[in-house]
Amino acid sequence: MREFRYERPDDVAGAVALLAGAPDAAFLGGGTNLVDLMKLGVATPDLLVDVRQLTSAEVSELPDGGLRIGAAVPNADLAADPRVRQRFPVLSQALLAGASGQLRNRATTGGNLLQRTRCGYFTDVTKPCNKRAPGSGCGALQGAHRNHAIFGQTLDGPAACVATHPSDMAVALTALDAVVRVTGPGGDREVPIGELHRLPGEDPSRDTSLRHGELITAVDVPALGFPSRYRKVRERASFAFALVSVAAAVQIEDGVVADVRLALGGVAHKPWRATAAEAALRGQPPTEAAIGDAIDAELAAATPLPGNAYKVPMARSVVVRTLLDLVRSAR
Ligand SMILES: Cc1cc2nc3c(=O)[nH]c(=O)nc-3n(C[C@H](O)[C@H](O)[C@H](O)COP(=O)(O)OP(=O)(O)OC[C@H]3O[C@@H](n4cnc5c(N)ncnc54)[C@H](O)[C@@H]3O)c2cc1C
Ligand code: SF4
Repeated sequence: MREFRYERPDDVAGAVALLAGAPDAAFLGGGTNLVDLMKLGVATPDLLVDVRQLTSAEVSELPDGGLRIGAAVPNADLAADPRVRQRFPVLSQALLAGASGQLRNRATTGGNLLQRTRCGYFTDVTKPCNKRAPGSGCGALQGAHRNHAIFGQTLDGPAACVATHPSDMAVALTALDAVVRVTGPGGDREVPIGELHRLPGEDPSRDTSLRHGELITAVDVPALGFPSRYRKVRERASFAFALVSVAAAVQIEDGVVADVRLALGGVAHKPWRATAAEAALRGQPPTEAAIGDAIDAELAAATPLPGNAYKVPMARSVVVRTLLDLVRSAR
């Protein structure tokens, strides 16, 4: 493990300034992902800037009935917040489907959003991986890719990467149209959650659109006003990342779908907002056939690999079941 310095500045400005002056520095939240990666030699920061006590650990009301979640709110507290459970059950359920009780006590909202892929080639420094060591190749492409992406991968060349994004919470926040508030060397800005994470494109080493030194300070979740749900398929009941997951919300008016939100996890390098399915479903009666046709419209763009083609029918089943359950519970 590389030697590193540890700093705990007094305020956000101090934390941002420390990172701005140190290209190999990293913010430290709960450390449940970053410290593991440091032990493995995957992450090698020379300076850790502890931000857990700098950003808010509170969930507060927004004027529109939404909620502002401080970046330091522990995953366990957020899942248990009565306002989250009542207004955004999809978020509470997604958090509770992730990690373990002890990890959720320690993990923060900001750190959860920026946790890194669980691709086994990424976490093994003896293996080729374009994300960890640009240009070294993608071990997963010709190797074990059962857990990997079916949408939006880079399938050849020196930027090949078929990794998935691991956070369950981020999938729920994507369906909820959350906005991430950041402070960086250039000042404050707001990043819609759909623009926070990125596809591998020509540079799989970058997971997000954040610039070095930008600190997540809070996440705003706008009011929703209709039922929502998270469902995750995994290989065992705990301590396992999603093979496929869905965050869904649906509003039925006069017997047809007035509004619908669908985001998929475990299928892409970022939480995958199923916009084609949403568009196909709006205005339709919420029948099994209509929901099936809508998700088929989304899955038509999938480019599965030999080892993960099972995710296509799995995603279809999970979406159909989850939306039908939501529709029935809304009656
Ligand atoms: C065994 C195990 C099982 C798990 N299972 C799941 C699962 O099923 N689903 C799931 O979603 N997660 C799972 N996790 C991951 C867990 O949710 C994350 O490790 C955790 O949420 C990361 O939060 P943290 O605060 O500890 O982040 P850290 O490890 O402190 O940081 C993670 C990254 O975020 C950056 N960072 C931290 N805070 C900020 C900030 N405020 N602004 C900018 N950058 C910041 C750090 O520099 C680092 O790059 C699992 C983890 C383990 C160890
Ligand atoms: S899928 Fe991405 S993270 Fe995994 S080995 Fe390939 S380049 Fe690395």
